[in-house]
Amino acid sequence: MNTQAAIYLDNNATTPVAPEVFEAMVPYLTEFYGNPSGLYRVAKEAGAAVTKARESVAKLIGAEAREIVFTSCGTESDNAAIWSALRTTGKKHIVTTQVEHAAVHSFCEHLETLGYTVTWLPVREDGTLDPAEVDAAIHDGTAIVSTMWANNETGVLFPVEEIGKICKARGVLYHIDAIQVPGKVPIDVKQVQCDFLALSGHKLHAPKGVGVLYIRSGTRFSPLLIGGSQEKGRRSGTENVPHIVALGRAAELALENLIDEQTQTRALRDKLENGILSRIPNSHRNGHATERLPNTASVRFDGLEAEGLLLKLNEHQICASAGSACSTGSLEPSHVLSAMGLTPSQARSTIRLSLSHLTTEAEIETVLDLLPRFVAELREPRPAASPAAKA
Ligand code: PLP
Repeated sequence: MNTQAAIYLDNNATTPVAPEVFEAMVPYLTEFYGNPSGLYRVAKEAGAAVTKARESVAKLIGAEAREIVFTSCGTESDNAAIWSALRTTGKKHIVTTQVEHAAVHSFCEHLETLGYTVTWLPVREDGTLDPAEVDAAIHDGTAIVSTMWANNETGVLFPVEEIGKICKARGVLYHIDAIQVPGKVPIDVKQVQCDFLALSGHKLHAPKGVGVLYIRSGTRFSPLLIGGSQEKGRRSGTENVPHIVALGRAAELALENLIDEQTQTRALRDKLENGILSRIPNSHRNGHATERLPNTASVRFDGLEAEGLLLKLNEHQICASAGSACSTGSLEPSHVLSAMGLTPSQARSTIRLSLSHLTTEAEIETVLDLLPRFVAELREPRPAASPAAKA
């Protein structure tokens, strides 16, 4: 067994649980296991911890605690926001982009089969979005605009503040999938003027299976899950107390580590990306040079299938992915890279490297030592099979 520690460069797929986060959640698995609506101590302690976590998450995004609803994941938060807008407005049109995560993309495709209409906005070659496209797509029948803040595959940032202004001026609800953003870019819901915003615990060093939906005060809401009226009737189901506590602690750490993510992580990402582009011939960056997350590099190597490269990296305990984690293993080229105008073979020759504040300079140097060799080996023409061998 190879016991060498992994070099983890797939933080946009998921992040390791921070030790402080794990420590914070354990008492709510062992000691304070009560149902937060109970009236005895093990339950009351659990309820108080949920309240504290709500305040921490609210602080991370500049919201009020009462505007925070805990969900089971980012996908649920995205679905719930869009579904609510359709229900409360009675309108049937959604504006979104061609590069959304499946949590929005596939849900909107599903809604099309139910008779709703969707405008799929294009992006520029560098993955950025022209806010004028949003304005042009809105009409009287539009229930909601839903865009991501940062793309999970390329890290490219959308002009959410400008889109927020447009939606406000046009009287249309605005949902932001901000799942890749916390800890990397400051979030202030008051400034971006959105009505909904989705987060997911496992992208910010909390466990998988917990998410957040921010709902602006005064926004009408029709819940996806109906039952015991938890979360003030906005999301029924007994609260996942340990994971909510974990997410609260992770939100505090994301605020503390923001500077690191923006400086140290950005510097390491740039070192990695510049090193790759200068040492490996015919390699290219996908996406805008500056309008993007500080931790993400999406690079492609002409004439190479990313799958082979990822297998070689894996042999050396280096974790990266091709396109988004969800499309790895499928032969379909990424819909994000295709929307940016890449050909199917360019999309298939792309790998995504995503760092965190835990990434070290030594790890980046190791990758820069190995990657050029791996690419060269994979690009070497394979000897043609002899007729005898073919028989
Ligand atoms: N939206 C974006 C931008 C994501 O990156 C992800 C996860 O990869 C999701 C939504 C879905 O979040 P979750 O895995 O918590 O359902």
